[in-house]
Amino acid sequence: MKVCNLSSGSDGNATYIESTTTKILVDCGLSCKEIEKRLALLGVGGADIDAILVTHEHSDHIKGIDVFAGKFGTKVFVHRDGFYPLFNKLKKDHDIEVFIDEAFVLGDLKILPIEVPHDVERCTGYVISEDKKKVSIFTDLGHTTTELLQNLYNSNLVFLEANHDPDILAQNPKYPIYLKKRILGNNGHLSNLACANAIMELAQNGCKQFVLSHLSTENNSPDLAYDFITDILASSGIVEGTHIRIDVATTRPKNVFWI
Ligand SMILES: [Zn+2]
Ligand SMILES: [Zn+2]
Repeated sequence: MKVCNLSSGSDGNATYIESTTTKILVDCGLSCKEIEKRLALLGVGGADIDAILVTHEHSDHIKGIDVFAGKFGTKVFVHRDGFYPLFNKLKKDHDIEVFIDEAFVLGDLKILPIEVPHDVERCTGYVISEDKKKVSIFTDLGHTTTELLQNLYNSNLVFLEANHDPDILAQNPKYPIYLKKRILGNNGHLSNLACANAIMELAQNGCKQFVLSHLSTENNSPDLAYDFITDILASSGIVEGTHIRIDVATTRPKNVFWI
């Protein structure tokens, strides 16, 4: 599989995944023009995309859908409980398919949708596999549990949210109290510490390659998240570069992963 994050964070989220026969996007949270431009860097056209999998209806995940799916007739997949929230935000009719809490097949990809705790009717993390290769994409989640993380065990590649440093967020004068509470809450976003703890568990269960994702531009930075998380892991004997690899996703496409 070939995997490339096109953009990550509250400015827009989209991840491209390609298998032998199938090309999909997880979320479409940039303008159609930007998505097309970034796909072109990979030699992929908008018409090549077989499906868009939606995590949830926040605009940083769906704002390109109307134009992109309208232009290319792309099928949109969303969990049954997220259908109306999504439908209510879209301006045009699209070919939307709903799924339930069961694995389904898209071409040669197997898609396992997992509910994650976020302040919407339904937010979905995805475990996507082709044969024995597996990529997991989990952002916009307030906390993790072992029950949730078990689904990600033995992934070849994990995109996991490292949204904020709680101290920076708490002291950020631009954020009203209600928003701070929302982000820090059980259904908000994953902090650097929570991300580090989750990576620790995943690293002990077959995962070796991680991409820190959905970083707040206000309350985090790629260097801060990377240093904080790799330090915590190192203090538990898990060394980046030796036992695991950690990259950071930003608002620009960076690495192409072959798994
Ligand atoms: Zn988001
Ligand atoms: Zn969200």
